[in-house]
Amino acid sequence: MSDILDGLDPEQRAAVLAPRGPVCVLAGAGTGKTRTITRRIAHLTSSGQVNPGQVLAVTFTARAAGEMRGRLRSLGVGGAGSVQAQTFHAAALRQLRYFWPQVFGELRWELLDNKFQVVSRAANRVGLSTSKESVRDLAGEIEWAKASLIGPSGYAEHVAEIGRETPQPADNVAQVFALYERLKVGENGDRLFDFDDLLIYTTEILRTERAVAEEFRERYRCFVVDEYQDVTPVQQGLLDEWLGARDDLTVVGDANQTIYSFTGATPSYLLDFTRRFPDATLVRLERDYRSTPQVVGLANRVIGQARGRIAGTRLRLLGQRPAGPEPVFAEYPDGPAEAAAVATRVAALIEQGVAASEIAILYRINAQSENHEQALTEAGIPYQVRGGESFYTRTEVRQAMRGLTEAARRDDLPADADVVTLTRAVLVPLGLSDEEPAGAQARARWESLRALAALVDDMASANPELTLRNVVAELNSRAESRHPPTVQGVTLSSLHAAKGLEWDAVFLVGLTDGSLPISQAIDAGFDAIEEERRLFYVGVTRAREHLQVSWGLARNEGGRPRRRSRFLTDDVVPDGSPASRIAEPGPVRRGPSCRICGTRLVGSAAALLGRCERCPADLDEDLLAELKQWRAEVADAKKVPGFTVLSDKTLTAIAE
Ligand code: ATP
Ligand code: MG
Repeated sequence: MSDILDGLDPEQRAAVLAPRGPVCVLAGAGTGKTRTITRRIAHLTSSGQVNPGQVLAVTFTARAAGEMRGRLRSLGVGGAGSVQAQTFHAAALRQLRYFWPQVFGELRWELLDNKFQVVSRAANRVGLSTSKESVRDLAGEIEWAKASLIGPSGYAEHVAEIGRETPQPADNVAQVFALYERLKVGENGDRLFDFDDLLIYTTEILRTERAVAEEFRERYRCFVVDEYQDVTPVQQGLLDEWLGARDDLTVVGDANQTIYSFTGATPSYLLDFTRRFPDATLVRLERDYRSTPQVVGLANRVIGQARGRIAGTRLRLLGQRPAGPEPVFAEYPDGPAEAAAVATRVAALIEQGVAASEIAILYRINAQSENHEQALTEAGIPYQVRGGESFYTRTEVRQAMRGLTEAARRDDLPADADVVTLTRAVLVPLGLSDEEPAGAQARARWESLRALAALVDDMASANPELTLRNVVAELNSRAESRHPPTVQGVTLSSLHAAKGLEWDAVFLVGLTDGSLPISQAIDAGFDAIEEERRLFYVGVTRAREHLQVSWGLARNEGGRPRRRSRFLTDDVVPDGSPASRIAEPGPVRRGPSCRICGTRLVGSAAALLGRCERCPADLDEDLLAELKQWRAEVADAKKVPGFTVLSDKTLTAIAE
């Protein structure tokens, strides 16, 4: 018990100890919301108020769910058959699988693995463009409608009512939407489900099938939701069915971190919680335990500029940690120069002893990762790309998943063959090999397949009885929450995928008008721009200690000029302050590679021990000398005198 309450402040304790029933924690970033709910679950279960198996905790990403399970385990209340911590989709998938036969008998359903194909067929029949962009926009619009609980028939009227800008005339979207839904139903009634269908059907079954609802509500009695500001109406609908007449619900959230409005998410449920549950225990937290006062100061300045309804809920964060370095603002001639300089700074931090896994580079859109992947590769710094729009939507990964799904269905597989071998048999024809291939595209493909193989290896070693079907189910559920397998390296992530996470050092890159705020938001107007500002706030508040905000004045060398982001006002960036000085990008040179396994040598461990960090072969004298010289050069690169951020006026002059 004392363990569970250790390291909690009085407000956090109040939330942890609140009696069963509705609890709402409204608080800013880094104030310990996630810590508080895990402790609350631990407290409720270890004090015997509720059985661990009766708790269902939902979060929005698989990684967050995994982290919560980890934290619960370390509090001694995790483990198999215990508290369920899952994403909404994973929870729904599990429930649907369980209840479906009971309700629909022989009728079958399957997860739709290529939604764009079906949308494209529908668009084609309606006579609309089937270009990639058009199909993606239509699919996004259908997703929004479904998450907002709007069907094809009510769509046109609804968007007219709220004045929503639609990717195609509303009647056409409605037609595509209706056709898309029909195309997912086979002649014999079998169905394909997209991710929203998982939520919609589960909700529907619980709403209409009394026996099912009773069984479910008997099983789960206590619900916890993290990041509640980003719940969608369809998710809230499911949550309501889970609850039934009960009110044992703990929610935590920060309206100022609402960053998924475009998918239909809304902070209204968070902000209206105490109206819905007048007896709720309401707790506000304002001490920030994550970041230095310098980072907290910047976060307050950024969100202080916010306007509109959500801004009214603003809480000022009070930094609790010891002082740290000032945030750095840095401007570069173009994107590649920015990426090279960031890589140099990353190398310097690693030299100083910051673990690579404690460093993140965050950007607005996934395509921005390219420059940084290149620069980090050249600097020999290991990295992982998160926020897997990149990973599970990659062609080779989709092909692999299709291959695995097919293999899992076959019943003529060699008996005795293990999952790892069967997986390899699917991946090798797609390009998996022991040798790293040449060429960026081939390498990217190979990397994805290798990551997939490594993931299956891990799953197999955790579960000796793993079947190919389990693998397919697990991959589908990960694909749903869009997360790539993790390795220990610098994290590259979109700002959206960084929600809820923290690192010692954070680089927010590409802070130009058009990237953050993104140009579509500038076109869409006030609400969209405010959401971009919140995204900036989410980015700033991921940093524990080191924070650098940077931008390039063109996309590429000699490219069209860009201005620094409108969010970097003189209030946010004190012009000419020492904070705005940074080392000029030094030329990034590759470090030497191990002669045995080919791994690029980076860290001080290799230099000190004279061994490769990976394989671990002894380094010969020449290689060791080369490594030491390279490390000295990297160290020199950061000593080049800094330059100052230009004022808005100068920037405008350059842009014109
Ligand atoms: P976000 O809004 O970004 O999701 P959060 O409110 O969920 O943030 P947590 O991730 O729970 O915040 O906590 C932020 C950091 O502060 C974590 O490293 C956590 O361990 C630490 N922390 C939380 N509460 C305390 C406390 N009372 N004392 C010391 N450290 C704390
Ligand atoms: Mg959190």
